[in-house]
Amino acid sequence: MKVVLPGQVIGFLGGGQLARMMAFEARRMGYRIAVLDPDPKGPAGQVADVVVTGSFDDGDAAERLCAASDVVTLDTEHIPADLLARLEARHCVLPGAAVIGVIQDRLAQRKFLTAQKVPQPANAAAGDLAELRAAVATVGLPCVVKARRNGYDGKGQARITTTDGIEAAWRTIGGAPAVVEAFVDFEREVSVLLARGRDGEVRFFASAANEHRRHVLHVTRAPAGLTPSQEAEAQAIGRAVAEGLGHVGVLAVELFVTRSGGLLVNEVAPRVHNSGHYTFGACATSQFEQHVRAVCGLPLGDPELLRPAAMVNLLGDLWGEGEPAWHEVLRHPCARLHLYGKGKAMPGRKMGHVLLVGDGVEPAVAAIAAWMEQAAAKVGRAL
Ligand code: AMP
Repeated sequence: MKVVLPGQVIGFLGGGQLARMMAFEARRMGYRIAVLDPDPKGPAGQVADVVVTGSFDDGDAAERLCAASDVVTLDTEHIPADLLARLEARHCVLPGAAVIGVIQDRLAQRKFLTAQKVPQPANAAAGDLAELRAAVATVGLPCVVKARRNGYDGKGQARITTTDGIEAAWRTIGGAPAVVEAFVDFEREVSVLLARGRDGEVRFFASAANEHRRHVLHVTRAPAGLTPSQEAEAQAIGRAVAEGLGHVGVLAVELFVTRSGGLLVNEVAPRVHNSGHYTFGACATSQFEQHVRAVCGLPLGDPELLRPAAMVNLLGDLWGEGEPAWHEVLRHPCARLHLYGKGKAMPGRKMGHVLLVGDGVEPAVAAIAAWMEQAAAKVGRAL
């Protein structure tokens, strides 16, 4: 596999905010950008040199994207693995079908994690309602049932607290093949973020602490404040996952910290991750540049966290009365605004984020969160 140098073209399957931020970093380094997305004017399409319009399962469109690119990478794990396998036969696609096939099926992912001997919640497969009853009996109550495919941010999931709730949960996830997981009464959620180069070198970013609201990431703080032994364990888990998959690029592992201080894997994302957005402005090398370097076959950069940071997600609920009053955010000198250029602000849609950098960011996080709640309440919503 040849090194891909600035001046050459990086292709992205999917043109959302992740591809946009990778494209920003890649462009700064002198690369050119190609994007496949159903919306040519989407977040990454706006900053690309070449846009191929098509859906993620459109083989002809994906082939055109690959033909226009020197290396191809992904903005989402929801690209069909069999399509990736076909593309990989003739093009350099990282990560490829071997990684994505495992990750996009929650059951395959759980089995992979078991094989890697990494700690995770008790889990069992459920292909139909009878199997769901058996799986709930095996895993115990309370538990969470998750559709094997196409879930994100809590979608395709239902919590089960009593056996009477099993049928309703099955209907909630649309009767799709599923995995049942023990509900973890966690103390908090953290993520370990790393990059693995083509040569197998692994570099870790500072682990981050994640606060969710309604299943969607709300605030990330870095460093996470793990104990040295927890940080070492988180990194060992991340390394085992990345090496076991043979992954090239950035990878995030979302972890639950249990009340006794142990770590359990919630899920793996073989790509740049929302909880790593803080790196873009707070680290010597961002996750987006690191991913570009990895897939292009360049040496990895220094991931050091230069100052403590927090990131607050901006959801579409804020746009109820038109463009939000950004001066309320930017009057905090430690705040930097990132908007993704999405046309339509729908409730729950990730529209951007605020990065806050420096030792004293907490008052600004609190003030911005309160401002967001007020804006959402004005249009009758709760964040
Ligand atoms: P996921 O889409 O699987 O990352 O789930 C979204 C969020 O739901 C997680 O970040 C947790 O806050 C919560 N969640 C998911 N699985 C579990 C579980 N097994 N136990 C407790 N909370 C969970």
